[in-house]
Amino acid sequence: MKRILITGAAGFLGSHLCDRFIEEGHQVIAMDNLITGDLKNIEHLFQLEQFEFYHHDVTKFVHVPGPLDYILHFASPASPIDYLKIPIQTLKVGALGTHNLLGLAKEKQARILIASTSEVYGDPLVHPQSEDYYGNVNTISPRGVYDEAKRFQESITMAYHRFHGLDTRIARIFNTYGPRMRLNDGRVIPAFMGQALRGENLTVFGDGKQTRSFCYVDDQIEGIYRLLFSDYNLPVNIGNPGEISILEFAEEVIKLTGTDQKIVFKPLPQDDPLQRRPDISKAREILDWKPTVDREEGMKMTYEYFKSLSREELEKREHRDFS
Ligand code: NAD
Ligand code: UDP
Repeated sequence: MKRILITGAAGFLGSHLCDRFIEEGHQVIAMDNLITGDLKNIEHLFQLEQFEFYHHDVTKFVHVPGPLDYILHFASPASPIDYLKIPIQTLKVGALGTHNLLGLAKEKQARILIASTSEVYGDPLVHPQSEDYYGNVNTISPRGVYDEAKRFQESITMAYHRFHGLDTRIARIFNTYGPRMRLNDGRVIPAFMGQALRGENLTVFGDGKQTRSFCYVDDQIEGIYRLLFSDYNLPVNIGNPGEISILEFAEEVIKLTGTDQKIVFKPLPQDDPLQRRPDISKAREILDWKPTVDREEGMKMTYEYFKSLSREELEKREHRDFS
């Protein structure tokens, strides 16, 4: 049995990682300050002896008693709406938070995996994006806070690897979806699901020609799991190469939900990437991994989850106090 610290554990990906490591028989130490996460995502684990929860902001000094074998650093706002509302916290968790966790990994001689993102490629000029593409990021745009925090995160992680010999892994995660996404977090899938279920029109930003490639959460977790147990230190893309325009995607959601909603167009947010598709050759070769859940199946399971939410939750608008 290994002891694993998971930061961002009450969030979407963090909570699925907790489940996976518990299932594999490990001891999980979950940490979160709940700024965008929700304890509901992990409350089913609270009665287990294998599970502990620390309510802590990782931008402050991180202390965990006892040994640690692995650290998975997933704490960070991840939706454009969140990181636009809390830009400083986003920069701090990517920079100071990562520094604290690298320091902890060094002290405990633990392996650390950090959650990077396809956003390091910015609005990419190369398509699809492979790991050797350096990216096209506008440092000073509102979105830049997330992209640059994650780019810094990768740099400091590689510096700890090269300078201190720390055992590090970097997952470049592409748009991932599934149960436990926060209904009102502003990302396109919960946004469309909430709109369909409330009988509202679907809001497509811009002309909807921009593309994304959506990966189902179980596939993503499997990729991250394999990367942690690989011996590869450079970044690895983990995502599903099935690319679709946002307009076509809205049409798919309308078909799936069987509703008669219309599509309405809203302004495109600044620096919204025009296209995004992972080149996953490296993950295939090094991790022997590829996604197994196609969009139709993944979206059906995701829709079932959102349908199971209470009317009250569906109607609830974002009311988080980010102060
Ligand atoms: P999420 O918002 O659901 O989860 C993030 C969690 O981190 C939340 O529970 C939040 O409360 C916690 N957190 C934020 N700042 C913190 C701090 N300072 N201290 C402690 N906890 C803090 O987002 P998610 O989709 O689960 O994303 C998790 C990670 O994966 C993030 O690092 C994100 O950048 C990365 N990622 C996600 C995606 C995706 O499609 N979901 C894509 C690329 C990268
Ligand atoms: N988007 C949209 N309508 C919405 C929410 C998002 O058209 O209600 C678009 C958004 O502009 C982007 C794409 O969907 O082009 C994916 O957005 P998301 O926030 O999910 O992820 P990211 O932009 O970070 O990839």
